[in-house]
Order: sequence, then C-alpha cells, then structure tokens
Amino acid sequence: MSANKVHSKRTACRLCGGPDFDVAFRLKPTPPANAYLQKDELGTPEPCFPLDLYVCRACHHAQLLDIVDPSVMFRHYAYVSGTSSVFVQHLKELRDDVLGRCLNKSPFMVEIGSNDGTLLKLFKERGVKVLGVEPADNLAAFANENGRPTLNAFFNSDTAAAVRAKDGPAHIICANNVLAHIDALSDVFGGIKDLMDKDGLCVFEVSYLVDVIEKGLFDTIYHEHVSYHSVGPVIGFLARAGLELFAAQRISTQGGSIRFFVQHANGPYKHDGSVEQLLGYEQELGLGTLSPFNALAARIERSSEALRAKIKDSKSKGARVGGYGAPAKVTTLMHHFGLGADDVEFLADDNPLKQGLYTPGKHVPIVDTSAISRNAPDYVVIFAWNFARSIVETHRAFVDKGGKFVIPLPSLVEVSSANIDQYLATTKN
Ligand SMILES: [Zn+2]
Repeated sequence: MSANKVHSKRTACRLCGGPDFDVAFRLKPTPPANAYLQKDELGTPEPCFPLDLYVCRACHHAQLLDIVDPSVMFRHYAYVSGTSSVFVQHLKELRDDVLGRCLNKSPFMVEIGSNDGTLLKLFKERGVKVLGVEPADNLAAFANENGRPTLNAFFNSDTAAAVRAKDGPAHIICANNVLAHIDALSDVFGGIKDLMDKDGLCVFEVSYLVDVIEKGLFDTIYHEHVSYHSVGPVIGFLARAGLELFAAQRISTQGGSIRFFVQHANGPYKHDGSVEQLLGYEQELGLGTLSPFNALAARIERSSEALRAKIKDSKSKGARVGGYGAPAKVTTLMHHFGLGADDVEFLADDNPLKQGLYTPGKHVPIVDTSAISRNAPDYVVIFAWNFARSIVETHRAFVDKGGKFVIPLPSLVEVSSANIDQYLATTKN
C-alpha cells in the first residue's frame, strides 16, 4: 500500500472545527507504532509519517493532524486487555463505580472498542445485558467464542443506529482508551447521543494531557493516539453534541488518564464539583498557552542527549547494551532520540505476541525477558520506563550479578548493585 493512500492531513480541529493551530512540538516522523515486523518482512518499505502535536487556537484541544488510516493500524491488534491482572482489577472497580451510579436498575451496556471482551464479561457477571463493538477481527472473534457478544465493526453513527434498532437504547456506554484513537470524534459522539437512553450515562477513559505534560509522557504520542484530552476542550465539544460532562476523575492507568462521566444535556445526574476543580487546575498549568509544551520539549531534549551520551560512552568502553520493554511508545522514543539496533542489541518483553518480532522502522529484535540473565548485557535500558520500579525489582538478580539498569525518563537514572536498595526504597513507580 502506498504512503499516499494511508496518510491524510486534517485541516479542522477534531473537537470544535476551528481552522487555526499552533505547533506544540514536533517529534521525529515514525512508521505506525504498532507495525511490528516478522523477520521476512524486514526488507519491505515502511513509510514514516509526520508526528507533530498541534493545539487548536480556538478550543485548545491538543491533537495530531497527520492521520494514518486506522484500518492499517487496528485490524489485527496484538494488545489483549485480559492478560494483565492489574488491569482486570481496574475494570472491576470501573464496573462497580458505574453500576453504583446508573439510575436504570436493569441496564443494557454497550462498550465501544471492547477488545477481548474482558469488561463485557465483568458486567455480564452482574447480570447486565452487554454488547461490545470492536473493529479488530481477531479480538471480536475471540470475545464471541467466549460468550461476550461482540459486533465486529468500528463504532460510528451508523453502528449506533443499528444497535439501537436491534437491542434498544443503552443505559451504560463505556469506552476505555479508545476515543483518543478516533479521528471522526463528532460522528462517534453523535452515535453515543442517539444510542444513549434519557437516563443513561457514558463513561470514557483517555490519557490525560496534564499527565503527559507533568510526567513527560511524550512517548505516548504516536499516530494511533490522535487526541490528547483535557477537561476544558471536552466540555465545549460535548455541549455542542447535546451532551454534558457531569464528573471527571484522574486515574493511574496508561501512566495517567482521566475518566469522564457524560449524560444528556440537563440529564438526571448531579455534578459533584470535580469538573470545575480540574478545569481550574488546567488553567493554573497554563494549558491554554504554549508554555507547558515548550517546557516539555526542552525536557525531552535533555533526556535524549543524556541517554545517547550514556549509550555512546558505555559502548566506547566495550560494554553491551540491551533494552527492556517493547510497548508501542518505544517507536516514538527510539525515533525521536535517534536510537536503533546499533545502540540497543535487543528489547526484552513479557508479551509473547511480540517476541520474535522486530520494532517498526528501527528493527530491534524483541526477545523474551529471560534474555536479561541468559544473554546478560552490561546495561539494560528500560524503555517501558513508567514501570521501571517493578521491572528493577523483578530482575534484581541481573543487578546482583553486576548488570546495570538505565532508566531514561523522566530524568536519567542508573541502577547498579551500589544503589539498588536506595532506588527501590525511594521510588514509587
Ligand atoms: Zn478546537
């Protein structure tokens, strides 16, 4: 497929339609971050696409305007939510919170981007009628085979109308870590508006722009995530769709996310003050200006220089360097920092679906995590740096045998046998 067919550029804000933008910062162009390669695909061309973050001058929504066709990125998705026990616990808490709030006591729940159906299963266990809408064919098939009814489709206004015609209005609509991926957000929320019953509520979780800025999570910026949401722009967007934000909570998933609670305009759910509180905090941070983005860009540059210098210095002394973690964001980080297979021999990753593959663009081989001890390099750079503490703790034996971990962000830290106890004692994760 040619680059022209899969790439397009928006000219209007995804939330308000405004035509004017500022560039918040430019990251180096990359291929789609989840386009891992098999060994026999290493010779095939991989187009790179611009990865620039823009801010709308009218509503201040932070977003990508360079769009890669989602059918290229999502038809076979390697991430399966049911694999992590921490994540399942998170979903149980979400279910209990939502069922505690929902005014309809025999609700119909629809999940947008239902993945393998883990959340559907949890609601079903409480006797709730459920339906998932999931575009990845392998995940939808898995969910259906396991008794979690799932429509294999992208959620949009047509899908919403079809669901309502067949199953009636929804009282609960959930969307976890999916709305940041959708380019045609107005159509999706038009569908939510039409599908949701008059006393219904919609809950969606997305990465929170405030966390991206405060924690320096710039590597969560890749083409699959077209929006970086904050409360201010979302309030106006929902109002224009005939909807209303009545509560918002900061949560820890994905390095820092926000959970939005939405109802019909003037609906029955009471405001709890959380929306106003977060809005005030965003204004304090200066999210309506470019200054927090400029500060983040400078911080990223310092981290990049420090890591490149560390690797160069280590290799010049004959040391071997491996890496830990091959999440999608490693593509952003390695491209932006200018690192490749010459710098890092391999990436060790827990996900068996990724082992044996190569990273997009940079072609670093992904191996299982036993490589840390089996193939013991001198240094292991932790690219899944938001999980650094638990990785260091789990692989303490590597350090005890003389290995060193390098944690590149938020600022470079080296963990060796000399400071591992202090690191573990003083680091929260
Ligand atoms: Zn806008």
